[in-house]
Amino acid sequence: MAESVLIIGASRGIGLGLAKAFAERGWQVTATVRDRSKPGGLDKISGVTIETVDIAEAASARALAERLADVTFDVVIVNAGMGGPRGEKPETVNDADFCQLFLTNALGPVRIAEFLIGCVRPQTGVIGLMTSQLGSVEQASAGGVELYRASKAALNSFTRSFAARHRELGLAILSLHPGWVKTDMGGPNAPVTVEDSAAGLLAVIERARKDRQDGYFDYRGETLPW
Ligand code: NDP
Repeated sequence: MAESVLIIGASRGIGLGLAKAFAERGWQVTATVRDRSKPGGLDKISGVTIETVDIAEAASARALAERLADVTFDVVIVNAGMGGPRGEKPETVNDADFCQLFLTNALGPVRIAEFLIGCVRPQTGVIGLMTSQLGSVEQASAGGVELYRASKAALNSFTRSFAARHRELGLAILSLHPGWVKTDMGGPNAPVTVEDSAAGLLAVIERARKDRQDGYFDYRGETLPW
């Protein structure tokens, strides 16, 4: 039987690239969009099961987990994220934009991972949470994009606590940096293509399925400092 992957946030960008890369390698792919009437490029990939979820809404995340309660995945990737109000700083951002950014990038990903944990194959399964190199507190010496950095640093903290709390399940739990990638978020000047990022991330996940190591890795397999 083919291996199976669930990708949360796959209508476009890196999530869509991951869905293509796994499908091309013969995996059974389930991938989510927010709006079923806008599947993005997903409906062009044959054999993909399309689901819906908005990770910023607890009820939506819980409903997805209930619909998938009887399914077991070898890999779950929580890719969904947003850039947020990038021109803003802590002293200028409005409360609503700040809350939406942290709901989407920090709380939403770990909350849906928690709801879905029963769907991940114990002892051999992998959960990947898409963070960013910009979430590294140790590397945050340059300033800029501070709100986005903080949201991904919070996600990294949640992810480490989540991994520690579920150690008995034997899952490999990864914080993944996709590179600076040419997408709507990364922009046209990004040096990494979606295809190269997705292929690299897939290799990192395959490695983790074998060596069972948690960690903070970029798409080339390099370890990043927390
Ligand atoms: P895009 O903006 O191109 O795509 C974002 C994806 O996330 C879309 O499919 C979008 O769905 C989905 N999404 C956003 N918010 C939600 C939500 N609340 N619930 C469900 N799905 C949601 O981003 P990228 O592909 O560039 O980025 C993917 C991930 O990689 C993000 O977590 C990002 O932070 C991270 N990353 C990206 C980098 C880059 O250079 N591109 C660098 C480092 C990290 P919809 O179409 O409905 O909006």
